Amino acid sequence: MKYVVCVPDGCADQPVAALGGKTPLEAAHMPVLAGLAARGEVGRAAVIPAGMPPGSDVGNMSILGFDPADHHTGRAPIEAAALGLRLRPDQIAYRCNLVTVGRPEGTTDGPERMLDFAGGHPDTDAAAEVIARLQAELGGDGVEFHPGVQYRHILVVPADWADADCVPPHDLSDDPVVWPTGPAAARLQDLMDRSRAIVGASPLKANQIWLWGQGPQPQLPSFRETYGLDAGMVTAVDLVRGLGVLTQMRIVDVPGATGWYDTDYEGKRDAALDALRDGADLFVIHVEATDEAGHAGNVEEKVKALENWDRRILADLIPGLDALGPWRLLLLPDHPTPVELKTHTTDSVPYLLVDSAVDGPGGTYTEPATAACEPVAGHELMARLVGPR
Ligand SMILES: [Zn+2]
Repeated sequence: MKYVVCVPDGCADQPVAALGGKTPLEAAHMPVLAGLAARGEVGRAAVIPAGMPPGSDVGNMSILGFDPADHHTGRAPIEAAALGLRLRPDQIAYRCNLVTVGRPEGTTDGPERMLDFAGGHPDTDAAAEVIARLQAELGGDGVEFHPGVQYRHILVVPADWADADCVPPHDLSDDPVVWPTGPAAARLQDLMDRSRAIVGASPLKANQIWLWGQGPQPQLPSFRETYGLDAGMVTAVDLVRGLGVLTQMRIVDVPGATGWYDTDYEGKRDAALDALRDGADLFVIHVEATDEAGHAGNVEEKVKALENWDRRILADLIPGLDALGPWRLLLLPDHPTPVELKTHTTDSVPYLLVDSAVDGPGGTYTEPATAACEPVAGHELMARLVGPR
């Protein structure tokens, strides 16, 4: 039996006025997905446990079959693992975004706002030069800047810097900035303030760093030890890759995987089929484009990203799986990212389970069609996917 887990990040949404009251999943032309839903089982999954923040770290941990309530220590330490960093017990990691803070064009007064939590999506190499300059000028004494991908980087600091409340920058889009509070806030504020001279002088659209998502390294058992299967994954997002590293999955690099609208959908599909052909039992395909479109409030790109899933991944993935023998597929996002809200919500999400050999009750994979279903805990779906039927 082969297993595939499909994660269109943040794809769940709400009715959108620009789509005549439809959700992007309802509006998108997805004939392959519709066919799978018609022969599978649809329902709703609570991927974000009650009381936890609706981040991709929490949602994807659920999808991989680990209860975030037991295992989650913060977002940044997961991304640190993706960069190959192992945190000592006396260290913690912060996520270090390159962001654009300021006043909207044409205005000179009023509060400074989070103009772009992604700092204009800088090129990874150009961003790495800025991170190196931050390390040279602000690093030392246990403060370490580590370059990641695009606008997403890591700051490692001593464990006693942990006690602060920090607002995720994507929750502040276009809103007045909210600076850290708590005992460690002054040290964070000092670094963020001093970063302005360095980031602002760079060619990037970003003009400072933003620190958030801190925590110590989580203790996660391996996927094999937990589920008895060899698993692999493809993703362009460090956060998701970090979960794969921490659970000892094999991570496949696809050169054209960008984490953006232009990602190499076919490359991810082929990476899944190649890994399964090479002996992997389970493979996770993660695509970030739907989430980015949600954050940008770009409904056209969100619909297009969903249609790309259908036409450029699922359409040839299913015959490829058929050629390998019996298979099961699980598809769900890690949280909703409604385009009209431009941020994540804690709402439950639609899930789809398909078994190549056993027809389910059938259904429609959209938010309204699953709205009446009682949500199941997100982390329990993995056991359902790989368990006896
Ligand atoms: Zn997101």
